[in-house]
Amino acid sequence: MITRIIGLGIVVLLALMYDASLSGLYFIVYMCALILMEMNQKGKFDQEMSDYRRRKNTQIKAVENERILNQKILKTLIKTMSSPMLYIDRNGIICFTNNSFKDNFGLSDIQGKYYKDVLGQGLLQIVQECYLFEKKYNETRKLGERYYQVDSNPLIKNQLFYGTILLFVDVSKVKEIEKFQKQFLSDVSHELKTPMSAIIGSVEILNRRSGDMDEITKEFMEILLKESERMQNLIDDILVLSKLERPKQELNHVFVDVNKLIENTIQLFQELANEKGIEIQFITMLEDGLVLDYKSLKTIITNLISNAIKYSDGGIIRISVLYKEGTMILIVKDHGKGIAAKNIPLIFDRFFQEDRSRGIDMGTGLGLSIVKKVIENNNGSIEVVSELNKGSEFTVHIPVS
Ligand code: ADP
Repeated sequence: MITRIIGLGIVVLLALMYDASLSGLYFIVYMCALILMEMNQKGKFDQEMSDYRRRKNTQIKAVENERILNQKILKTLIKTMSSPMLYIDRNGIICFTNNSFKDNFGLSDIQGKYYKDVLGQGLLQIVQECYLFEKKYNETRKLGERYYQVDSNPLIKNQLFYGTILLFVDVSKVKEIEKFQKQFLSDVSHELKTPMSAIIGSVEILNRRSGDMDEITKEFMEILLKESERMQNLIDDILVLSKLERPKQELNHVFVDVNKLIENTIQLFQELANEKGIEIQFITMLEDGLVLDYKSLKTIITNLISNAIKYSDGGIIRISVLYKEGTMILIVKDHGKGIAAKNIPLIFDRFFQEDRSRGIDMGTGLGLSIVKKVIENNNGSIEVVSELNKGSEFTVHIPVS
């Protein structure tokens, strides 16, 4: 544009130099040309602007249509999904519930109302826990006759709390199958107890006549006895586990002489330890007994010492016990085969065994699950540090009454 004006100016100057008497006319022609150029430029600019606006409007419309479509899809999904859902805003007002929520909990017309005014006791308690603490929540809860996996997600933006979305997934069927499975396992184990005792008794009687047997029969009889005993241990462990999994395990807190209990347990295993060339050391910081559940403590100590011996060939096993800030701390450290790092998270799972090729020396794979369950029932914790071929250290914390 500027170059055109300069160009036009030069033409007018040249015309003036040629005939200055026509300067007025030249000036008028110059101004007209300038106005025409300006109008032409403005027209172009307007055209470009309107094209740009049209393109932008089309883009905005497309985005808006997509947003509306997504919103529709999301709304339909939420409305029709089989899991109940609830959204409460930061003021505790119920902003949204889906059909399933209304059907499952028999609540309608609660939208726009304060949650405390409309929710029943069980539901209210869950919502309260999720809403008040503004934290993610994932727990299985019983509501009426059904079990729900409750997932709660707080909506937080720029560190501001905007409300909570709660999703209830009905897991009653899974719970029922789990219960049936446990009951079945417990019943079968119970039924197997008597025939197993009869088999072991008979094999023991036959074994007493080993003088009449040839070497191969003797070897088979030995395998028969060991395997039958293993099966009996399995049955016993399954029964203990299923008992522990029943709701509300009664604990009997009494004054326990922990030192004596550990010493007695060591004595039980002393012969086995001597056979394997293992030295058992016991270090105690306890001067007095502690108020604990005797049965639980016995199960924990027996299993941990038994494992320490089972998975060691020689070396020292050190058992330490102390009391600190209302908690009993028990440490069982061995210098045995250790546990591979990848298996450490699995050792408390039912039937997990790192080495299934141990043959007749094999355990049941249930000892540590029982220990963990017992510790949980006592509101305690267990940790393990282990290194392959170096040894393992199990540390138990149990709150003392
Ligand atoms: P098991 O009857 O096989 O001993 P547990 O539940 O007591 O069953 O232990 C599960 C697995 O954890 C064992 O098979 C073993 O592989 C591993 N484990 C437990 N304690 C020790 C230990 N002190 N040293 C090495 N491995 C261990």
